[in-house]
Amino acid sequence: MRAVVTGGAGFVGSHLCERLLAQENEVVCVDDLSTGRAENIAPLLDHPRFRFLHQDVTEGLEIPGRVDAVYHLASPASPRDYLRLPVETLLVGSYGTRNALELARRDGAAFLLTSTSEVYGDPQVHPQPESYWGNVNPIGPRSVYDEAKRFGEALTAAYRRTHGVRATIVRIFNTYGPRMRADDGRAVPAFVTQALDGLPLTVTGDGKQTRSLCYVDDLVDGLVSALESGVPGPVNLGNPEEVTVRELALAVREVCGSASPLTFVPRPEDDPQLRRPDISTARRELGWEPRTPLAQGLDRTVAWFRDAASLREEAVPTLAA
Ligand code: NAD
Repeated sequence: MRAVVTGGAGFVGSHLCERLLAQENEVVCVDDLSTGRAENIAPLLDHPRFRFLHQDVTEGLEIPGRVDAVYHLASPASPRDYLRLPVETLLVGSYGTRNALELARRDGAAFLLTSTSEVYGDPQVHPQPESYWGNVNPIGPRSVYDEAKRFGEALTAAYRRTHGVRATIVRIFNTYGPRMRADDGRAVPAFVTQALDGLPLTVTGDGKQTRSLCYVDDLVDGLVSALESGVPGPVNLGNPEEVTVRELALAVREVCGSASPLTFVPRPEDDPQLRRPDISTARRELGWEPRTPLAQGLDRTVAWFRDAASLREEAVPTLAA
């Protein structure tokens, strides 16, 4: 199979590229490196079945040769990134998704849209099943991401209905693991780097708001199964094990063997209070559920962050288009 992964140099995308290569596929990674990093895919550059194309998918997708699958991940994903890139986020969710769908349509390829639990906004139904339509502020600062993804879902559903594209929508809940950027503002990398540096762990609000955290390898299993299944979705992919943000900070501190205190800082606007996926659909349609316990996933993540300082000192390769 020849798969295109948009956003393949990002956190999730680079793990997906690795997995697809390990499964004997040919992989074309398309990325503009706006929030991803060259070093995420540096080990893959010499692989005979891997190709990197430095392209902004908002501008168009020029992929020579036939394509069997399109995994569309390109989009800023962390709140810090999409608040810094608001218009770009709306455009990659709209034009970028259109261009990725057109590529799948051109070759009759299977298509996967990586949507998000953010389409549920600050949910009034808990846990969130796919049938819940969400509670999104359409003009708040987070709307650039939430509404871009909601539009992307609508466009994907329309391409399936109108053009017969074999398109699947998945809604990803908070995912963590190696290769998250220390400065992306998400809770796990923030807590891990603070704990390792002996700094206070900055818990937002009173820390009683919840998150459900899925280890990246489990998520990648779900992405591949979802595309291969051809089900329309949407399908929630996430870990139903729910923890408060305060509990998460304490768990990270323990894995790091750190004595850092917790400090409480204001919560961002429209920050959701509760987050937990109902994954009955994924279990039923894909036979998927996460397998990595939080403690084990945090162990692997912390080990990677411990090494990251030395990795960062290595020269960053130049990527040819
Ligand atoms: P990331 O920022 O690490 O990766 C996104 C990648 O897309 C980056 O490499 C970035 O450079 C690239 N990109 C952005 N705009 C682009 C453009 N216009 N053209 C080409 N490339 C572009 O984020 P991630 O956490 O790996 O997220 C991947 C996908 O999964 C995103 O679509 C995100 O919305 C979705 N998602 C992730 C999570 C999570 O917890 N990580 C949760 C929900 C949804």
